[in-house]
Amino acid sequence: MPLYNNNTVNIYNSLSGKKEIFKPINEGYIGMYVCGPTVYSNVHLGNVRTFMSFDLIYRYLIHLDYKVRYVRNITDVGHIVDDVDDGEDKIAKKARLEQLEPMEIVQRYTVDFHEILHQFNLLPPNIEPTATGHIIEQIEIVKKIIDRGIGYESNGSVYFDVVKFNETNHYGQLSGRNIEDMLANTRDTDGQSDKRNPQDFALWKKAEPEHIMRWPSPWSDGFPGWHLECTAMSTKYLGEKFDLHGGGMDLKFPHHECEIAQNEACTGHAPVNYWMHANMLTLNGKKMSKSTGNNILPKEIITGESEFLSKAFSPSVARFFMLQAHYRSVLDFSDDAIVAAEKGHIRLMEALSKLNQIEASDNSSIDVKSWKDQCYQAMNDDFNSPILIAHLFEGVRFINILLDKTATLNIDDLADFTKTINSFVFDILGLQAETNDSASHEKLEGVIQMLIGMRNDARTNKNWKLSDDIRDQLLLLGIHLKDGKEATEFSIS
Ligand code: AMP
Ligand code: ZN
Repeated sequence: MPLYNNNTVNIYNSLSGKKEIFKPINEGYIGMYVCGPTVYSNVHLGNVRTFMSFDLIYRYLIHLDYKVRYVRNITDVGHIVDDVDDGEDKIAKKARLEQLEPMEIVQRYTVDFHEILHQFNLLPPNIEPTATGHIIEQIEIVKKIIDRGIGYESNGSVYFDVVKFNETNHYGQLSGRNIEDMLANTRDTDGQSDKRNPQDFALWKKAEPEHIMRWPSPWSDGFPGWHLECTAMSTKYLGEKFDLHGGGMDLKFPHHECEIAQNEACTGHAPVNYWMHANMLTLNGKKMSKSTGNNILPKEIITGESEFLSKAFSPSVARFFMLQAHYRSVLDFSDDAIVAAEKGHIRLMEALSKLNQIEASDNSSIDVKSWKDQCYQAMNDDFNSPILIAHLFEGVRFINILLDKTATLNIDDLADFTKTINSFVFDILGLQAETNDSASHEKLEGVIQMLIGMRNDARTNKNWKLSDDIRDQLLLLGIHLKDGKEATEFSIS
């Protein structure tokens, strides 16, 4: 029997502002869409947190035996600087500044994104569509919205008429904004806009002559609006109505509000049953962000090279740090907090590594079933990972009292306990046992000694070029060689 039969998952639905019992459209199957990164620069730790929140959710749903189709896109066109319609495309801007092709920028940062997510042990989605790969689908949606009288062309661009839409539907249903307030609070600053109303948003933008990311359309050579891509890609792969849609809290408005409006304008009904929003990672109390520079890069966590860090941390420790907070809470990053998380991570992993030393007894003095139920209840309650982690530490306490034989488990309970704690830690939280620091340090030392040996051979053979190359390359990596009388020493900076 699938595990989901015994587990009622409650999800906080941003649309209703309440926790709701989760019921997929098709029993046993889940369609889940998460807005992916805009690949114009390296992802920062805040972005990783959002993707990790949805990784936790995905992992748990799979654990419950749901068949999940998880779609997460790559935004490689259409996302405008400052999220306004009249600015420059983020990727085109970066390409201009770096004198590269936009697609070189896209490739560079997509590869980086995949590497980072892999390092942090996030599972890949089942489909990872790109916006540029779905221009035709986006044009089709624009046509439909125009046919329904809610999109209008103006000077080669096409805009969504929010006022018209709001006559029959509700613009602001997700973000809780009120259209009258929005209209009262915005003014068309330059009077030059092609829009009927400043709240209208672009479905299609005519490209300026110098803009090379352009595609033909019935209205102009141009490019699609950012909100449109997610409508096109989510419905293409998950259908006109699907179960879950997620993203960071900052995408609620305008991005997701506009997605809902586009879908309703196009199909006449709401696209998504449960909207989920992950909260922000802050640094010194301020949102981590690419554009302000207030951020830590995932790589800096691993190397420790950041003004905000006292040392390096493994990706699993960073993961543990983030999952100690509920996905809907703001989490502030600090060195102290991640140092504390590392201690907890070590305690957890040490205990797990001793599980196989526990011997079964004839009877059980620990109620494994009730502990296990609590673990599931935590996750069933809107994926409450901090509560789950508290129960896992109760599990650590069990391991310790089982080891010092002040408690006992019979063979079945021991097997159940072992299986449960392992699957929560490794499969659901996605933590990884450390390749402990001293072991990797030993390996590094071995490799350096090997290179020193090769360099000595090169010097004996008067191959000065090779010996210098080895020294210089190591230096670039921060490894200094010092030739002594007896031997060559090294130091790592
Ligand atoms: P972007 O590449 O800017 O479109 O962002 C990718 C994802 O990261 C989106 O879901 C954002 O909501 C999310 N995000 C951006 N900044 C943060 C942050 N400081 N903390 C958590 N998530 C963030
Ligand atoms: Zn999106």
